Amino acid sequence: MKFKVHKAWNIKFWKTKKTFTYILGLGLFLFVAFNCLTWYWQKFSGALRPFWQTQWENLYYRLGGNEWVIFIIATIVVPGIFFWSINSILMVADITGKPGFITQNHIQLGKNDPVDTTKLRKAIRVGLYNQIFISLPMVMLMLPILKWRGDPFSLSLPTLYRFLLELAFNALLEEIMFYYIHRSFHHPFLYKHIHKWHHEWTAPVGIISMYAHPVDHVITSMIPVLTGPVLLGSHVVSFMTWLTLTVLYGSITHCGYSLFPSTEFHDYHHLKFNECYGVFGFLDLLHGTDKMFRCSRAHKNISESIPELPKKKKKLTDLS
Ligand SMILES: [Zn+2]
Ligand SMILES: [Zn+2]
Repeated sequence: MKFKVHKAWNIKFWKTKKTFTYILGLGLFLFVAFNCLTWYWQKFSGALRPFWQTQWENLYYRLGGNEWVIFIIATIVVPGIFFWSINSILMVADITGKPGFITQNHIQLGKNDPVDTTKLRKAIRVGLYNQIFISLPMVMLMLPILKWRGDPFSLSLPTLYRFLLELAFNALLEEIMFYYIHRSFHHPFLYKHIHKWHHEWTAPVGIISMYAHPVDHVITSMIPVLTGPVLLGSHVVSFMTWLTLTVLYGSITHCGYSLFPSTEFHDYHHLKFNECYGVFGFLDLLHGTDKMFRCSRAHKNISESIPELPKKKKKLTDLS
């Protein structure tokens, strides 16, 4: 018995030490890489900026500098086109089982194969409702707030360095806010009355990234996404890019096909309910809310999807 406890403690110690070394090593690597890349980025952004600067100025003057028109195109039309384009492809795959290179990667085998079209129609209706009556007014409300925080229509675009830094900040803030808000929505009371809607799909499909109770959509989905740009007083181009990335990422994490590592992660949340609450998984690792996932078949798929380095060829002398 004593030996077993000692052995378990020993394994835990080495695992913790391994994790710590991994984080420290990664931190050092990122620090060195960041310093090296900064120099190149300054040169690179200097070369790219005139092109994007010209495109932005052309668009601004072509639309007569009408801020509302520019804002609607940037924050509603562009993310909307990307959202419905990717989900149209995914819905064709869910209904017809084609193309094979997508559908052969089903995470939950035998589920949504083909998808229940009545259930899918309901998801589209709720998704459209949330987009039109919740996302749209909330994003429109952002215009006066962004103007109060900064100059979202400045003719001078943010530098590439600031643009990327803002994206990283928004992603980090979204991970923190989404994790804790989402986890609190799994409290029995909130889950029963609000969050259960989103979990009606134990095997998710892309469109259900917008399928949620309106209160859930406002608090869990919209607020974590909009807070970063408000705090930073983002330029409308940065805001457009961030919104487009979030709608694409949301659709991919719900698509049900093993196309990216993050898909298995959120798919597992829909399957098991009480694991994998975050967007990227950092806080799940910290709070240990991904233990079962890391032992699961889904996680094994992720590990297998990361290609291994080719083994070194043995020298001829070694063979002799
Ligand atoms: Zn949930
Ligand atoms: Zn979900």
